[in-house]
Amino acid sequence: MNESLNNIKEIKKYAEEENIPIMQEDGIDFLTSFIVKKQIKNVLEIGTAIGYSAIMMALASEDTHITTIERDEVRYMEALKNIKKFNLENRITLIFNDAINVNLEDQYDLIFIDAAKGKNQAFFEHFEGNLTRDGYIITDNMYFHGYVSMDEESIPSKNILGIVRKIKDYTYFLENHMVYKTTIYNIGDGIAVTERRG
Ligand code: SAH
Ligand code: MG
Repeated sequence: MNESLNNIKEIKKYAEEENIPIMQEDGIDFLTSFIVKKQIKNVLEIGTAIGYSAIMMALASEDTHITTIERDEVRYMEALKNIKKFNLENRITLIFNDAINVNLEDQYDLIFIDAAKGKNQAFFEHFEGNLTRDGYIITDNMYFHGYVSMDEESIPSKNILGIVRKIKDYTYFLENHMVYKTTIYNIGDGIAVTERRG
């Protein structure tokens, strides 16, 4: 079997066993096609986990560079290992820190937000200054496993309800933004694509 395909399978298996919420199949297809179609060259990813989405983006487009941030040390170490396996150290830069504490100089034509779901707006506002003029911000898990469309009374925990409300606030923030326009796609767990207006 193709070695790269085999390595991807292993990463997915590890994610499943360790309960690490990597992107779903249709979500990753959307993201990688987007990168190819829009000729994205410089990606900033918030939430590496074990490197699955970063590796998939790098494999989709040979001249794309990905900077990705993870705050969990075990996941960060696993991501380092996985990126090495694919010999992608030269195209994927890993940062081990809480994204909110990371200040970057570079400009990115795609910022992919896939970290703590209650902090989407904080990440958006922290990094929007790093977005190129024609760049995109993509946010994953806008449906939060279906909870966002549920009756709030039926949501099983206060914790989940808290996150659901923050995602609703973030959706409102995106949809009513003066500078940006957003489309939310019914793909994977809900994917928001944001770009500057006009
Ligand atoms: N993008 C990955 C999945 C990321 S899961 C993929 O599809 O393969 C979300 C990750 O974000 C988790 O590993 C979590 O530890 C990390 N995270 C959550 N809040 C963060 C923060 N404030 N800064 C950096 N990483 C964060
Ligand atoms: Mg996600």
